[in-house]
Amino acid sequence: MHRFFRTLTVSVCIASAAATSGSGTLSAQELRTEAFDLLNLDYPGLEQVKELHEAGRDSAAAVSLLEYYRSRTGIGTPTVNLKKVSISKTEQKWADDALEHTFFVHYGYQPSFNYGEDIDWRYWPVKDNELRWQLHRQKWFVPMGKAYRVSGDEKYAEEWVRQYMDWIRKNPNVKIDKNEYEITDNALNADAENARFAWRPLEVSDRLQNQITQFELFKISPAFTPEFLTEFLVNYHRHAEHILANYSDSGNHLLFEAQRMIYAGGFFPEFKDAAEWRKSGIDILNREIKVQVYDDGGQYELDPHYHLASINIFCQALYMADMNGFRNEFPQSYLDTIEKMIMFYANICFPDYSNPCFSDAKLTNKADMLKNYRKWAKLFPDNQTIKYLATEGKEGALPDYLSKGFLTSGFFVFRNSWGPEATQMVVKAGPKGFWHCQPDNGTFELWYNGRNLFPDSGSYVYAGDAEVMEWRNLFRSTKSHNTLTLNDKNLETTDSKTLLWKPEGDVQILVTENQSYSNLKHRRSIFFVDGSYFVIVDEATGTVTGNNNVNLHFQMPAGNVPNSREDMTFYTEFEEGSNMMFRCFGPDIMTMKKEKGWVSTSYMKKKQRMNVSFNVKTTDGLPITYVTVICPKKEAGKFPDIASAKVKVNDGTTLKLQVKVDGKKKTLEYSLQK
Ligand code: MG
Repeated sequence: MHRFFRTLTVSVCIASAAATSGSGTLSAQELRTEAFDLLNLDYPGLEQVKELHEAGRDSAAAVSLLEYYRSRTGIGTPTVNLKKVSISKTEQKWADDALEHTFFVHYGYQPSFNYGEDIDWRYWPVKDNELRWQLHRQKWFVPMGKAYRVSGDEKYAEEWVRQYMDWIRKNPNVKIDKNEYEITDNALNADAENARFAWRPLEVSDRLQNQITQFELFKISPAFTPEFLTEFLVNYHRHAEHILANYSDSGNHLLFEAQRMIYAGGFFPEFKDAAEWRKSGIDILNREIKVQVYDDGGQYELDPHYHLASINIFCQALYMADMNGFRNEFPQSYLDTIEKMIMFYANICFPDYSNPCFSDAKLTNKADMLKNYRKWAKLFPDNQTIKYLATEGKEGALPDYLSKGFLTSGFFVFRNSWGPEATQMVVKAGPKGFWHCQPDNGTFELWYNGRNLFPDSGSYVYAGDAEVMEWRNLFRSTKSHNTLTLNDKNLETTDSKTLLWKPEGDVQILVTENQSYSNLKHRRSIFFVDGSYFVIVDEATGTVTGNNNVNLHFQMPAGNVPNSREDMTFYTEFEEGSNMMFRCFGPDIMTMKKEKGWVSTSYMKKKQRMNVSFNVKTTDGLPITYVTVICPKKEAGKFPDIASAKVKVNDGTTLKLQVKVDGKKKTLEYSLQK
């Protein structure tokens, strides 16, 4: 991907001199008298505003209105505590960079781009949709507000007002079809083309929430004039109305939009439409928490990152409700569901608080997760597991179980401990997931004693031009996972059925099946033996014949992973603590292939690694059966002898096999109910 010029040399010609940004003038603001029509002037505290407005003295009414907002009490936002404003080094940098129009837009594109002295809100240096969408989240505005409060330096407030007005002028809301906000590859005129980025409901909702915080931080500044207040209120109102008319159809976008409408209605109850905004948000969250969350607590995008985001969306609505006295608009079932979602997340994550990077997930860090658990512990003070995780084990208690299945979402966790020494495998084999879900049925991550030995490839990038899409498609492809493909192609169907889940005993078992292709069904049976090692039986059945290939993929951790083609074995040589060896048994004609693979734990960051596949030609038809034995081990070099694995009985209902590991024979078997 090319890096384009960071500094713009071409500026857009704007006719009005007063409108030129960066020139030091704040005169672009006008008294917007229509603001008074948007407000309920009978709202307690607005008596004087009403009187002045009705007397035709709107300038004075705006002064009174600003006074009202500067001294208003009893209404707040959980996004900022004005008594305790602080700023991180990173936020300070974003704030200072923004003074020069170098805008922090996305962690994936660093250092940040400069948008020109005369800000070009349409500058799109890399054709990744996220880079252009997220520009309109104005992530540097709140940091500017914090910088202003901490330093008292008016330059931040003045520049914020200038940029706020500049954005309004250069980003008209051109009405386009609702679906056009997501489809970005067909031709529209320039303003409409821009609106699909600037006015996509998700971005609008982001501003809706953050502009409340900006309002709080900047309202005391002389730059926040009565005229500007009217501009702000008119702009804010059309933001909320835009969402009301263009809510996304489903998924996390809809959740974000609804939650932020609750913020809009809750924070600005003086708007005539505020009650409607708040109600629409609350109704949607109360409805969607039942639609988007399965009965086992899994969010239906089957993506740990968006699962976590959804928990926090639902919680944020509660924080706003608590602060402003409308908690009773959420039923107890709403809270119960959030608690289930947290328990789902606590189970699928690893002992160091990291998460599997299934679907479009990024890796979350422990510090952020501790903050989450501490907040959740306040909402659910009786939940001992949440308390335990919030306090790193100082208080509370772990669940009284180890392995745990979430059968509706299709997430299965094998573990022998909750502690850092745990062996923990998380398997993803669920129903068809929504947008962020990848075609990866049957895949897994395996953690052992401090290390993720089979990290998922992650997602790397979302959507954009052909080059961006090529990367996206590679990371999300089935063959970039630990599962079975036909001719390395993506799964045609992603709808796994759980045939058996036995989470207790010396031999724990999961049997899951997916009609991966019209002519090939994949059954994966996983045995967790003696809390120590895993035996995975992969079986391809169906009608495929001829010159086709069944491929069983495993993604190796980054770093040197020696292997033996003769024995079909791989083993890691990390420092003492966490290593593994695995061996794959298959038909005599099975071959091994090593390809370049990738792993990504954050946007636009990737590391190379090895994608291993075991391949069998379908000349003799199906079924084809593989048995893979994976042994985690502390020491490097000293590996168990994975001597043999033989299937004794397999009639589709009963599976019986014998493995020999370290000289010990073990019989593994199950029989499915007919
Ligand atoms: Mg993946």
